[in-house]
Amino acid sequence: MELEKSMQHVCVVGLNWGDEGKGKIVDVLATDVDAVVRYQGGANAGHTVYIGDVRHVLHHLPMGVLHQGILAVLGNGMVLEPLKLLEEVNSIPEEAVQRIRISDRAHVVLPYHCAVEKLHEERAERPIGTTLRGIGPAYQAKYGRIGIRMGDIMEPGFIEDVLPKRLAEHSEMLGVAGEGIDEAVRICTQLRDRLSQQVTDTRRLLQRLDSEGKKLLFEGAQGCMLDIDFGTYPFVTSSSPSFLGVGPGTGFSPRKIEHVVGVTKAYCTRVGEGPFPSEIHGEEADALRKAGGEFGTTTGRPRRVGWLDIPALCFAAELNDLDSFALTKADVLDGWETIPVVTGYRLDGELLDKFPDSLTDVQGLEPVIEQWPGWGKVDAQSMQPFIERLHQATGIPVSILSTGKRRDEVCIFEPFKAEGELA
Ligand code: GDP
Repeated sequence: MELEKSMQHVCVVGLNWGDEGKGKIVDVLATDVDAVVRYQGGANAGHTVYIGDVRHVLHHLPMGVLHQGILAVLGNGMVLEPLKLLEEVNSIPEEAVQRIRISDRAHVVLPYHCAVEKLHEERAERPIGTTLRGIGPAYQAKYGRIGIRMGDIMEPGFIEDVLPKRLAEHSEMLGVAGEGIDEAVRICTQLRDRLSQQVTDTRRLLQRLDSEGKKLLFEGAQGCMLDIDFGTYPFVTSSSPSFLGVGPGTGFSPRKIEHVVGVTKAYCTRVGEGPFPSEIHGEEADALRKAGGEFGTTTGRPRRVGWLDIPALCFAAELNDLDSFALTKADVLDGWETIPVVTGYRLDGELLDKFPDSLTDVQGLEPVIEQWPGWGKVDAQSMQPFIERLHQATGIPVSILSTGKRRDEVCIFEPFKAEGELA
């Protein structure tokens, strides 16, 4: 499989509320690139990909790390959880570990961040339903300018001489005085001992790769409806999973990225609290959840499920300056004569065809459902009527159709073209 010659850099983003199957799409596209780059989030992401029938779950590392010869870059926009990262690193071959590059500006998630998050969620009038991995408080520390960065802990003596004092101050400021300081020293030491060779100025690295004509694949975690600025705030993640996050999350100019692929399932899911206009409930929801295996990779929580939401997709297409869709999990709906799709909403008796800007409005929406043509068994031909309808409704073509969970279950259309085996 080859990217078009003119297409040096591509970005893959999730268009819904996460769990769209981005890991698999990145994995498919990564066969022809030189580096895969993550630009935000941390271990709150959980990509699952099947190579043959072997299941691989990665939380920090981009999927490309499983391909020979590709650099796996963790950008400055990420927040890294030492133990989880070490666990992942130790689960892959040493040859692959040597291809990891970690930004010296990426922030470190420390035990007191988890304690702060737990406290906030417990006390909140409106809990967000976060993964409790300390991601939000680590970003708070970053923007509060009290964060600890990978470059800091690689400095000789920093962990021993500076870190305990800093953490004592920070944890007190945040209401969890003294929480996890010894633990932080221990895990940061482990991280330094294992990964010091991988920590570098990744912005400079990406510039160099670009100027050498190397191909970069950027990978968003979560989904753009959870974007800290443009998602359904406050029920969002703490970073920008949309394409817009690439610049601040890597230091690489988004103007150089020629193609943005947005991943969407043929239906929708959401984890955690917050508005989800196309949500369904009861037995219908249970059946869809079971058919799609919709239980969180990171938390095991049952995902909320609903129908494909066209106004939300149009909003996502605009936000991400989208070029094409990667459509996943259509096989879950195999054999359905028609597919329910939300094409608009009713709000106080008025018909809307756009995703509302105000959260208050999003919460009051009643979906308008159309039945679109179904398919027997998913393949490029039987999906054609649905794919055309999607193109018509959104103005965006489908470039990749995933037909099952395995790496080789995929159909590729323009502008990506299939060449030979996808193994
Ligand atoms: P991500 O975070 O967006 O990568 O999504 P997850 O990995 O959390 O969830 C996607 C799940 O769907 C994984 O278990 C994938 O193996 C699976 N998956 C991806 N594409 C397809 C597909 O086309 N069909 C089916 N049945 N499963 C898929």
